[in-house]
Amino acid sequence: MSESSPFLQACAEWKKAEQQKSSFGFVKLGIKAGVPIRVRFLDAAPLKRVLHYESLKGTTVICPEHDCLFCSRGDKRVDRFFINVVDRADDRVKVLEFSAALRDEMFEMVKELAASGESKELLDPRNYDLVITRTGTGKDTRYAVAKMDGKLTATDYKSYDLEKYLVPMNPKEMVNKQESRPAPVEVEKPVGDFGTEPPPVVPSVPDTDENPLDIGDLDL
Ligand SMILES: [Zn+2]
Repeated sequence: MSESSPFLQACAEWKKAEQQKSSFGFVKLGIKAGVPIRVRFLDAAPLKRVLHYESLKGTTVICPEHDCLFCSRGDKRVDRFFINVVDRADDRVKVLEFSAALRDEMFEMVKELAASGESKELLDPRNYDLVITRTGTGKDTRYAVAKMDGKLTATDYKSYDLEKYLVPMNPKEMVNKQESRPAPVEVEKPVGDFGTEPPPVVPSVPDTDENPLDIGDLDL
C-alpha cells in the first residue's frame, strides 16, 4: 500500500477504526504483544463483568451472575474489567478491557506509588499516564505497567456510560442465545422470496470481536 495515496490511506484508517470498534458498541483499545499503549484513566475505578465466551462460537454473553443458563450448564466464566481511557496516541476516548492479570499489575504499581508516600495524587491513576506493555501469549502473557507524567490536551473528554453498554443478559435473551434463535428484531420484514433463511440475527448483546483465548489475554 502506498502511503502517498490519500484514497488508500483514508480507507485504511476507516478499516482500522472499524476493527477497533468493539461488538459492545464502544471503541475498544486493544493491547498487542510488544506494542506499548499509553493511556490516561477517565474513571475512578473499572467496571467488572463476568463473560461467557465459549457458549456459542464467536459470541460473548454478559453473565447476570445469578439464574444464569450458561452458568447452570457449566460454561466457563471469565472476569473482565472495563475502563474509559484517553488513548494518548490519538487523544480519543476508548475503552480498555482487561484481565485479572493486568488488573493485578496496575494494582501493585499504584500500591507501590502509595507506599512511596510522595503525594496523594499518586493514589489516583487519573492524575498521570500509564504505559502498559504486554509480552507473550496465552499462559505466558505478562504485563508491565509504568507511570508517566504528561498533560492531557483537552480539559473535557466524553466517556462512555459503561453501565449502559455492558448490560448483563436477561433470562429471555439467554434462552434465545442458547437456542441459537434470532432475537426478536423490530424491523419490517422484507417482502419477497428469501427462501427459508431466517432474517439476520441482531443480538442484543453483540458478538465479540476478540476472543481472549485467541489473543492470549486470558488468565483463569
Ligand atoms: Zn453465567
